[in-house]
Amino acid sequence: MTSIGFIGLGIMGSPMAAHLVDAGHQVTGYDVSAEAVQRLAASGGRGAARVAEAVAGADVVITMLPNHPHVEEVVLGDGGVLANADSGTLLIDMSTIRPETSIAVAEAAAERGIRVLDAPVSGGEAGAKQASLSIMVGGEEADFASARPLFEVVGRTIAHVGPHGAGQVVKAANQLLVGGIYGLVGEAIVLMEASGVDAKTGLDVLAGGLAANRILDLKRETMVAREFTPGFRIDLHHKDMGIALAAARAADVSLPLTGLVAQLVAAGRAMGYGSLDHSALLKVTEQLSGR
Ligand code: NAD
Repeated sequence: MTSIGFIGLGIMGSPMAAHLVDAGHQVTGYDVSAEAVQRLAASGGRGAARVAEAVAGADVVITMLPNHPHVEEVVLGDGGVLANADSGTLLIDMSTIRPETSIAVAEAAAERGIRVLDAPVSGGEAGAKQASLSIMVGGEEADFASARPLFEVVGRTIAHVGPHGAGQVVKAANQLLVGGIYGLVGEAIVLMEASGVDAKTGLDVLAGGLAANRILDLKRETMVAREFTPGFRIDLHHKDMGIALAAARAADVSLPLTGLVAQLVAAGRAMGYGSLDHSALLKVTEQLSGR
């Protein structure tokens, strides 16, 4: 049994923490939302009233927060993880944030004898609920090995991909691919419908050919039906496209299609679709087409 402090009990963190409880670990959770903390307590974990209480005496601290300012506040801030966790604690940040923040957090933590992994995930709310997430991990190999049993509780495809920040780079690559595929599936639907072709029938046959992909498999019916309940919000994907472009700049590479996808996602936000699922990129293409 591992004593785990879990901070950030939202759409993803809540089911992940519950799986860790079910696996027999002692999970003490904190979230700014009291309702989220109560949810953990109801599933057998312990609720904490502040970060310090969640991390006191923990072997492992897991954070699953929206973006880098939240991670900086929770980990580096007064009353945060570094100020309260024991030396030797392993901090696993599973949020999607900029690689440079993951590196800065690892450096600051090392000064306090706290080890860090960046371990963002892919698979969405369904993957979190079904404990089938893909987990891409940056940091020391030995720390990855010690965390692997915990990753296996919440994930299925788990890989150590390099040093601190590398997990976030792989996640950025995931997000540019997912955004691009959603954009193109939307364009395919608009083209077929504007040409008088039934889009559902068209996508069904495409899903059996070279264009087959998981987004076509999982989302083509809801996209054609214009059901855009999140899932993963356009607002969060906008954040992730910013991370991908910043990572491209840091690596000194040109990613023109990623830039275009980032602008499509930004247009979705500007059109008022930020709280819809990212499959609502279809609505952006429709509007650009005057439909
Ligand atoms: P969410 O907004 O549902 O959950 C984040 C939680 O963090 C919320 O409950 C919020 O109250 C809490 N929080 C914010 N600031 C806090 C603070 N200072 N102290 C304590 N708690 C705080 O978001 P989510 O969908 O669970 O996403 C979490 C991370 O996972 C994000 O980085 C996101 O990009 C990534 N992610 C999400 C999905 C998805 O499908 N939702 C998939 C893969 C990765």
